[in-house]
Amino acid sequence: MQKYRLFAPGPTPVSEATSLAMAQPLIHHRTQAFEKVLEEVRGGLKWLFQTSQEVLIFASSGSGAMEGAITNLLSKGDKAIVVNGGKFGERWGKICQAYGVLVDEVKVEWGQAVSPQVIADRLKKGGGYKAVFFQASESSTGVYHPVKEIAALTRGHPETLCVVDAISALGAMNLPMDEWGVDVLVGGSQKAFGLPPGLAFAALSVKAWGHAEKGTLPRFYFDFKKENKSLQKNQTAYTPAVSLLIGLAEVLRRFREEGLENLFNRHARLAKAMRAAMQALGLKLYAEKSPVNSLTAVMTPEGVDGQKVYKTLSEKYNMTIAGGQDQAKGKIFRIAHLGYFDDLDVVLAVAAVEWALADQGYRVEFGKGVAAAMEVLRS
Ligand SMILES: *Cc1c(COP(=O)(O)O)cnc(C)c1O
Repeated sequence: MQKYRLFAPGPTPVSEATSLAMAQPLIHHRTQAFEKVLEEVRGGLKWLFQTSQEVLIFASSGSGAMEGAITNLLSKGDKAIVVNGGKFGERWGKICQAYGVLVDEVKVEWGQAVSPQVIADRLKKGGGYKAVFFQASESSTGVYHPVKEIAALTRGHPETLCVVDAISALGAMNLPMDEWGVDVLVGGSQKAFGLPPGLAFAALSVKAWGHAEKGTLPRFYFDFKKENKSLQKNQTAYTPAVSLLIGLAEVLRRFREEGLENLFNRHARLAKAMRAAMQALGLKLYAEKSPVNSLTAVMTPEGVDGQKVYKTLSEKYNMTIAGGQDQAKGKIFRIAHLGYFDDLDVVLAVAAVEWALADQGYRVEFGKGVAAAMEVLRS
């Protein structure tokens, strides 16, 4: 017998309480019982997004809300800056291109964060950019891009929106949307929320809602204005993912009990412990200068294939982490610690990585990484 253990940066584990909440007999979405759920969820999401604006909810993976952020705010031929330092940055570019938005790409070396100065310089040239698209947490590299600094830049440009894919950051790292002046914040259920995949979220600033009045790209299901209009009546435009929303209400209740600060501190502590453990094992972090707190991308040592670490954990220990993608394939492995994770989960994950590395012939002094993690978690 071997338990299944999920340490991938999405989907993440679902708590027993959340699973039970979602297992309740299905209710219809045009009932008072569901309206109560929706009302609670709407309030909770505003609190988590740290915004006074409505948070839109769609039944899709996170990419649905990313697509909606483009189709609702832009028009064909509009110009946008896209930060591409990994798979998800690349995705912003691909969606833009699919809709005829002209992309001015800011290429960032994988493992590095974008420099706000580069964005500032492009904006200064006055290219008439309608938006800057980037990730808070670039999950393919484990890098945090400077959200606050970029939002401060777009604030001075009434034409330009700051659009942040925070799918793997929201609920793990502090992103006070209104305070920082982020115009669009996108989230997804299968990351820090600890819910199954299937819900995408997007919140828009007043400035972004202004752009939504002008965008002419085609859209139907992901029509932000339409969904917002329904939500103002505490209804959804189409059949919502009822069971997931009941799960979300439970998650948000637990988040509120924990409190925003504790929620972010917990993720910061788990990340710090994971980083210390990997370094104690003699490994280098892929995102050395600007790591996120939701996952840790680790460079595999000389002579060890990152994909084999990932495969060994899966086949021998029944544990899912993530390997590297594209140019990082074989060079890194990624361990998540966002959502339903606590101190002992990190200790366990480090122990498993020690075994998997030893299986690849890497000289591991067992417990060295574990001890480093335990020290951090104790302090
Ligand atoms: C998971 C993730 C997404 C969304 O991917 P989906 O498969 O569409 O849910 C987007 N951006 C980032 C940074 C992610 O981590």
